[in-house]
Amino acid sequence: MMPPNCCLCDNGIETGHQCELVCFSKTERDRQWHAMAASEKDFTGHPPDCDWFCDIHVETAKTLSHNDLPTALHQLRQNELWQLIYIDLFDRDTPPSVQSSGIGFESGFENFWDQILATTEADGRRYPSDYRLSFQSNHADYSVPRDCSELTLIKQSVPNEEKAAQTVRRLAVGQAARMRKGGLADVKKYLTDHCKQLSRTQT
Ligand SMILES: [Zn+2]
Repeated sequence: MMPPNCCLCDNGIETGHQCELVCFSKTERDRQWHAMAASEKDFTGHPPDCDWFCDIHVETAKTLSHNDLPTALHQLRQNELWQLIYIDLFDRDTPPSVQSSGIGFESGFENFWDQILATTEADGRRYPSDYRLSFQSNHADYSVPRDCSELTLIKQSVPNEEKAAQTVRRLAVGQAARMRKGGLADVKKYLTDHCKQLSRTQT
């Protein structure tokens, strides 16, 4: 077995991150490897259809596990690189800057919502800053409008940090799935649907 280090980032043994082994669809060569491993006593080695993923990337990996491993990794590196852009609205001379970057739509949307919720007051007022989630592939950036009633609703539905973390996680997983399926239009629709559900449960 290879050491449990994430194959998409630097998280692993040295950084104290737990990684999970995710297995993908097997290619013909992978099947041959497993047949050989099963037939030889004391066979050791790392299954070629499986790899390690940290908590940030494990959800992304599982979503793509119906592909074989090289295809999934290629798809991620090709389509799912993102940057979170910070925009200072107080000092407009400050150019927008990259606050964080990574791979996998789940972690991108999670970073986005983390920052957006942390810079929104309970009454919906926003700090003089904004964030855009920018993708390397040919999508437009994702952001929410300054006076977003949906954002206010979400902010009011998270009374504490634990609930906020759950909400951020759920939004990120939902929007990432929509991003792969139908692009940004579907991502926006997911937020609208999520909020319709929220207002139904709140009233
Ligand atoms: Zn990772």
